[in-house]
Amino acid sequence: MTADKKSHKPATRALHTGGQGRAPFGVVNPPVVRGSSVLFASMAERDAVERKVFGAGDRLPHYGRNGHATQWSLEDALADMEGGQVLLAPSGVGAISLALLSVLSPGDHLLMIDSAYGPSRKMCEGMLKRMNVRTTYYDPLIGAGIADLIEPDTRAIFCESPGSLTFEVQDIPAIVQAAHARGVLVMMDNTWATPRGFDALGHGVDISIQSLTKYVSGHADVMMGCVAANGEVFEALKATHRQLGLHVSPDDAWLMLRGLRTLDIRLKQHEANARVVAEWLAGRDEVARVLWPGLPSDPGHDLWKRDFTLACGLMGAEMATPDDTAMAAMVDGFELIGLGYSWGGYESVCMPAHAGKLRSVSAGRFRDPLFRLHVGLEDPADVIADLEAGLVRYRAALGG
Ligand SMILES: *Cc1c(COP(=O)(O)O)cnc(C)c1O
Repeated sequence: MTADKKSHKPATRALHTGGQGRAPFGVVNPPVVRGSSVLFASMAERDAVERKVFGAGDRLPHYGRNGHATQWSLEDALADMEGGQVLLAPSGVGAISLALLSVLSPGDHLLMIDSAYGPSRKMCEGMLKRMNVRTTYYDPLIGAGIADLIEPDTRAIFCESPGSLTFEVQDIPAIVQAAHARGVLVMMDNTWATPRGFDALGHGVDISIQSLTKYVSGHADVMMGCVAANGEVFEALKATHRQLGLHVSPDDAWLMLRGLRTLDIRLKQHEANARVVAEWLAGRDEVARVLWPGLPSDPGHDLWKRDFTLACGLMGAEMATPDDTAMAAMVDGFELIGLGYSWGGYESVCMPAHAGKLRSVSAGRFRDPLFRLHVGLEDPADVIADLEAGLVRYRAALGG
């Protein structure tokens, strides 16, 4: 039985794709297959395997670096979710680098969203600059106006929606249309919504990128990323993936597959909890604005509603009186909410930030410091109680 029929709903397929029914010993989940060397019975068998692997691109046991059954199970399950072929990278940043290095060559020009995840900017200022790839940062709210920034050498547009820290929603269909009219590729960091919340490839994006570390893992215990694409773009990704020697361990792939099985139900609960917390935060005097497109008052709400099917648990909040000392007083005293960078696990975490420091063309639009909050699967009443005590400390630290 392979229950990966397209007639099933996505939530059903998420449970039944990727090796289900094929595991040995009759167990439900695929085994962890560890191995570097693969043994061949004869030279004839080796030759036949190599013809299939390098000729037709078949996935057969050949050499550990190319993965075994465990990684392939995860790839299959993710491919079903993404609607494209998938490659795994050791981290989300690894997946971003893989996407950029697969399509950019010396002399190319890249349009990078100004609200990009910090390390995406570092890649532009570091390795890409050394490779003689020029980057122009563009306003996250640019929409169809992106057409004016496309130059003859522009090879790719990098999107991330909603943006890191400030959660601007992009008009992805408008950007895709402008890009494709000029033969430019669109890649998108889709970590916030996952493909279950935003169908990146279905909206015309050429390369969908996820940090699986976040929601697909869901348990703050494994790091990984993936890229998804189709056709020639996928072949370019695959060649670069092979040349860079990217590999993820079967144990990590197994954990990731375990996380993936409960993604749907977790995302629904994160959204429900986040809505309760976002509405509460929006009503507080200490908070100037909650940055979460799931709120009808959010400037990105209409675009989000048009293109997305869910809002996740990650949001930002700008303070009425921004202050680093008061922010520290609030965050340092949290009992439940952790202070940490990664998010998408079952637990609530918070991280204050100065978003403007990471911006080139859209700095000064937000009050710094703000804080980013990931609402976990705790009872939201407990998260709110922790936040409430924190806001009392915040006000006290401001001196009344
Ligand atoms: C965390 C994150 C990444 C990087 O993922 P890692 O697995 O930590 O390397 C990329 N993009 C976004 C939006 C993220 O939040």
